[in-house]
Amino acid sequence: MSEIKKNLENIYERIELAASKSGRKIDAITLVAVSKTYPAEKIIEAYNCGQYIFGENRVQEALDKIGILKDYKDIKFHLIGHLQTNKVKYLKDNFSLIHSVDRIELVNEMEKRFSKLNRIQDILIQVNVAKEPQKSGVLPEDFDVLLDKVLKSNFLNLKGLMMIPPFLDNPEDNRIYFRKMYELFEKVNTLKKVEYLSMGMSDDFEIAIQEGSNMVRIGSAIFGKRG
Ligand SMILES: *Cc1c(COP(=O)(O)O)cnc(C)c1O
Repeated sequence: MSEIKKNLENIYERIELAASKSGRKIDAITLVAVSKTYPAEKIIEAYNCGQYIFGENRVQEALDKIGILKDYKDIKFHLIGHLQTNKVKYLKDNFSLIHSVDRIELVNEMEKRFSKLNRIQDILIQVNVAKEPQKSGVLPEDFDVLLDKVLKSNFLNLKGLMMIPPFLDNPEDNRIYFRKMYELFEKVNTLKKVEYLSMGMSDDFEIAIQEGSNMVRIGSAIFGKRG
């Protein structure tokens, strides 16, 4: 069995166990296989094991792979990395979900570009819930204004929230941030029903799922350590 197949089976098992601890089934959790830095061949290998959703963090790198994989009609790409305003024009219909909407200026530019294409783009709002300096994501105190802006936009369709926790030796220490995100997710749901709470990576996805995540972004535990 290939390394990727072994890893994916291991991840599915661990997702199932973590989901069961919060009274859910494995199909309530969406796995985004984070393929950044890995070549298109690795994506095909994972696709052949039944994985259809892939996460990329750079627009140009993603577009290169999307070009190579254009005949694989059922592969979906999510953009999970920081999105510069000057890259918005390249997005077009390439991403089924954009996880990293985090500021008004970006919303304005996306609204402009997607209105020209007459495309309604599914997005998540990324929240810097731990208020780390220099980290992407809207600060909790600025969240309501951004949310309002997104809900009023005609071409961005809010599907949920995303967060990247602080990089800590012990991921247990991030449980409080996962919990805060879940509270925010519930609050958003009183205004608009949204589907996804995107949190949890290779080192902390079980904790994130226990705290209510339903979309995990896992890279190195599937594809191996990045160089
Ligand atoms: C790289 C990345 C991941 C995956 O990280 P791993 O530790 O390799 O699982 C998840 N989310 C984002 C936004 C990333 O950039």
